[in-house]
Amino acid sequence: MIRIILFGAPGAGKGTYSAELIKKYKVPQVSTGDMLRAEVKEGTELGKEAHEFMKHGQLVPDQMVIEMVHKRIQEPDAVNGFILDGFPRTVTQANSLDLMLHQMNIELSGVIKIEISQETILSRLTGRRVCTNCGATFNIATMKPKQEGICDKCGHNLIQRPDDQPTTILNRLAIYQKDTEPLIEFYKNKNLLRPVQCEGPYNEALARVFAALEKMAKV
Ligand code: AMP
Repeated sequence: MIRIILFGAPGAGKGTYSAELIKKYKVPQVSTGDMLRAEVKEGTELGKEAHEFMKHGQLVPDQMVIEMVHKRIQEPDAVNGFILDGFPRTVTQANSLDLMLHQMNIELSGVIKIEISQETILSRLTGRRVCTNCGATFNIATMKPKQEGICDKCGHNLIQRPDDQPTTILNRLAIYQKDTEPLIEFYKNKNLLRPVQCEGPYNEALARVFAALEKMAKV
């Protein structure tokens, strides 16, 4: 049983690590970014509203994501745990999450903090390419697809996310520092923070993430 938050700057690799973790632990990945992008793609009212913030790299209003997560973690597939990816991102969201978990009578196993340098973050974000169909992520420098511009998994086209443009990236990193980094203290004070050094070869970093999780997983 694991109920964790994967915490880290945009581009730290939360989505990539989550994809590996869900295979092993058979729990859903709850990515607010993916959920919002799905709403945008479907053209829902929520999606239209969210898009106005997302395209500038700003956070969407807290209440929007809080409600989404509240619903999602009560679905049957989340009974045995979940991996929160990209949520919470503000102290308000973290307090709401606390309240939700308390009401559901469940606890977080821990918060994995992915640690990488600013330099690596920038190269990951500028090189990131995503599949328009299945959402798989590649990197033109470090995790190239077999065929340029084509998804290895489903054969659809790869694109650069609109919010991965250089000016938007800087905005997102500034917002991360201002709004999201205070959560490090928040979870440290609750004794839930588990920093994992993720610089260097991907497989080695992934092994360290798994090792940190093994320590916190409850059978
Ligand atoms: P991500 O894929 O996690 O980088 O999220 C992409 C964008 O979705 C962010 O830049 C925000 O605009 C929005 N977003 C995702 N998660 C949240 C959140 N927890 N709070 C506010 N906005 C979010």
